[in-house]
Amino acid sequence: MLGTMIYGPRDIRFEHRPDPKIVKATDAIIRLSATCVCGSDLWPYRGIQPITQPTTMGHEYCGTVEEIGKQVKNIKPGQFVVGSFATSDNICAICQHGYQSSCVQREFMSAAQAPYLRVPLADGTLVATSDHPPKELIPSLLATSDVLGTGWFAADAANVKPGATAVVVGDGAVGLLGVLSAKQMGAKRIIAMSRNPSRQKLAREFGATDIVTQRGDEGVSRIKELTDGIGADSVLECVGTQESMIQAISSTRKGGYVGYVGVPHGVALDGEQLFYAHVHLHGGPAPVRRYLPELIKLVLDGKINPGKVFDLTLPLDQVAEGYRAMDERRAIKTLLRP
Ligand SMILES: [Zn+2]
Ligand SMILES: [Zn+2]
Repeated sequence: MLGTMIYGPRDIRFEHRPDPKIVKATDAIIRLSATCVCGSDLWPYRGIQPITQPTTMGHEYCGTVEEIGKQVKNIKPGQFVVGSFATSDNICAICQHGYQSSCVQREFMSAAQAPYLRVPLADGTLVATSDHPPKELIPSLLATSDVLGTGWFAADAANVKPGATAVVVGDGAVGLLGVLSAKQMGAKRIIAMSRNPSRQKLAREFGATDIVTQRGDEGVSRIKELTDGIGADSVLECVGTQESMIQAISSTRKGGYVGYVGVPHGVALDGEQLFYAHVHLHGGPAPVRRYLPELIKLVLDGKINPGKVFDLTLPLDQVAEGYRAMDERRAIKTLLRP
């Protein structure tokens, strides 16, 4: 088959790769209905995360099960499935506590920008739908695999409760779906931080009540003005830089919560500053598997439409253009069709 590889900064190639095969008895092979480019794929693409050898790419996926290993019991060939970007057995103590993305058997998926994919720990990683979903729901189901699951975790970790005031730092696809998640969890006021008109518009569609265009100290002052001078109950950090993290912590009221899901690059927190910030910090790789059944149901019931974050759809063989468009911020998120 043909699949996506990265050779170095801004060097994405769609080229011959071996067809995935069952390696362990707990594996499944799926034929993808759709995959996509993640904001986190831009870190290696931009050379911020070094590439030492040609590497497969992609970790968001949904599709039809083609083949299963001998020990796979719950997942059957022919089923439509969605899985998380992190594999999990879903039975170890960490999984039982709901942190499947840190499962003792976890592997990070990294070859999903391809027509076929091997999924380890299929029974614990994949969630099957009872029927094959209609085509128009595929983008939203794909979104549950990471980008929505991650935005949802940001809101959950930020303890968004009915009536809360939430701030979302970051207007990428995860931040925008963080807005949607906060809305679903009942936040009364949702302040999205964005300077980009098309992203502001989508944030409003997803439930943002206010937009703050300022950043850094100015952004924090604006949030304080909007929150009676005390800061927000819940802040979703969806970027992963020093500036965004400080902005998030400083926008939170004393006793409030920061949910941080942006993969940190160069973030260092000062102990004393943190001590007096007096906030709850909770984040990490989103335990998407915990949320998948609920999120898939919300999509199938037509309650949410997270697939709207895909504002560019390309055939999979044009994957390099998909990266370019996101890198240049011409696209929020690229969906790829095999
Ligand atoms: Zn991702
Ligand atoms: Zn586990």
